[in-house]
Amino acid sequence: MADPVILVVDDEPAVLRAVERELRGHFGAEYTVVAADSGATALDIIRRLALRETPIALLLVDQRMPRMTGVELLAATLDLVPDARRVLLTAYADTDAAIRAINEIHLDQYLLKPWEPPEERLFPVLDDLLSDWRATFRPPFEGIRLVGHRWSARAHEIKDYLARNLVPYRWVDVESDAEAARLAGAAGVDLGRDPLLVFPDGSHLLDPSNSAIAEKVGLRTRPGLRSYDLVIVGGGPAGLAAAVYGASEGLRTLLVEREAPGGQAGTTSRIENYLGFPSGLSGADLARRAVAQASRLGAELLTARDATALRLEDRYRLVTLDDGSEVSCEAVIVATGVQYRRLEVEGIEPLVGIGVFYGAAITEALACRGQRVAVVGGGNSAGQAAVHLAQFAADVTLLVRGGSIEAGMSAYLVDQLRARPNVTIRLRAGVAAVGGTNSLESITIEEGASGTREEHPMDALFLFIGALPRTEWLAGILERDGAGFLVTGSALARASDGRVPGWQLAREPFLLETNVAGIFAAGDVRSRSVKRIASGVGEGSMAVQFVHQHLAGL
Ligand SMILES: Cc1cc2nc3c(=O)[nH]c(=O)nc-3n(C[C@H](O)[C@H](O)[C@H](O)COP(=O)(O)OP(=O)(O)OC[C@H]3O[C@@H](n4cnc5c(N)ncnc54)[C@H](O)[C@@H]3O)c2cc1C
Repeated sequence: MADPVILVVDDEPAVLRAVERELRGHFGAEYTVVAADSGATALDIIRRLALRETPIALLLVDQRMPRMTGVELLAATLDLVPDARRVLLTAYADTDAAIRAINEIHLDQYLLKPWEPPEERLFPVLDDLLSDWRATFRPPFEGIRLVGHRWSARAHEIKDYLARNLVPYRWVDVESDAEAARLAGAAGVDLGRDPLLVFPDGSHLLDPSNSAIAEKVGLRTRPGLRSYDLVIVGGGPAGLAAAVYGASEGLRTLLVEREAPGGQAGTTSRIENYLGFPSGLSGADLARRAVAQASRLGAELLTARDATALRLEDRYRLVTLDDGSEVSCEAVIVATGVQYRRLEVEGIEPLVGIGVFYGAAITEALACRGQRVAVVGGGNSAGQAAVHLAQFAADVTLLVRGGSIEAGMSAYLVDQLRARPNVTIRLRAGVAAVGGTNSLESITIEEGASGTREEHPMDALFLFIGALPRTEWLAGILERDGAGFLVTGSALARASDGRVPGWQLAREPFLLETNVAGIFAAGDVRSRSVKRIASGVGEGSMAVQFVHQHLAGL
């Protein structure tokens, strides 16, 4: 495959030559730098590259050009190269146009001229955007193929697992892709309903477990050491932040994650309210950056491993993993977040994963092209899912139990939903039953006020109906509130002498510390926590400070 292209466009010959020279010097080993002196020439080049399937990674375009401005050129490229990263070179007076362009044409960045020295003002921004582009870019396919039936629940789980661990794969549908029979034949397996994974080295796994997949693709599933300073359970934003701070501050840090790093945030199509990302970022992107950062700083990350028990031995805390092994440490941060509440209605269980999904809107969105889908829930997660699905599905029905959509959803999402002609919002409505044999075929919608029920044909149902902490494995050791969230700091129950029962240290429990010294809770799993990405990240980082203080006092 030809190297990806960076296209730079400027009508001033001297500037164009200078930028081209700088870019070649810095990026020339991995990218082909192409220069164009006008919008029209640039469009011509882009069309020719597209025909040859040469990928374009980045467009770096001057705003002030005669006949076609930079913003107009970038707008004209949206359909041609939707995935390329877009950067505008502006003068101070063009700042307003650039900010408008963030919303209107998905501008990724604007840079004020002059951009010298490039090592400080140009390359870091472009390096970051190009590493983003590389993470999502799919070259002509040479990687893992997943062969299966669209309506196989396990195939859906494997897709989700691979996507969330950032393992690129190609989906080969048994019903519509002739390659499926060829691959099954080559592997010598009879597919039945079991998914088949075929690897680039020609080996295959039929209906593998997540840990078997992890071993095969090189994700770590066993700890490298027997003992750590800090073990973090849960790889959502809170756990990942704790891993970054723990490792960067010299603690031997292990993070144990049951599925894939990213947690709930990893399932989010677009996070609009995370500080420092004015044009938003996807949950997968955030997770990828955090994993890279934590690993670079020296944290060890285990995936496809569940923490199943915790026991105390003197100053040591021992975490049992689902393969029966134990890891020892002096401090634990529990950052296990929450999991979706299940909808308990007639006919639903056999259809989970084959038409009924809990929080899987990103993975399934493409498969919903042209279909009828329903989303249940009145919070931001339901709103984001509905907006995302509306880009692909023929129509999206959002069912909200309450009488107002504004009550649980941010205003920007409400606006986006109302602006979509294929989204119908039904208030005081819920799902009373679902129907289907091999996949979802219908749902019965119940009007809360009147109790009337109507059956509607439906291809997919996405549920975002609240979440519960899964802390049963900690019962009897750590204090939990009535809903199972972990209680910390000043909220801990006190005996009549004012002390926390069983607490043995002279100091009081820290803000994020549970009733057992050295065990902390951060993020959504903590009782009364703010259920947001930024607050999870904040708590994960703060918890590490308390770990240091705890260790210093031992
Ligand atoms: C669809 C959706 C959209 C959202 N959008 C936004 C948004 O735009 N902005 C915002 O601020 N917030 C948003 N949120 C909320 C935000 O994602 C959460 O508040 C945040 O992810 C909480 O982080 P956490 O690390 O505490 O827990 P989680 O993200 O829940 O992560 C916990 C992790 O722990 C793992 N785990 C659980 N138990 C175990 C165990 N026993 N052993 C090993 N691993 C375990 C889980 O697999 C999971 O990966 C959204 C949530 C959802 C579901």
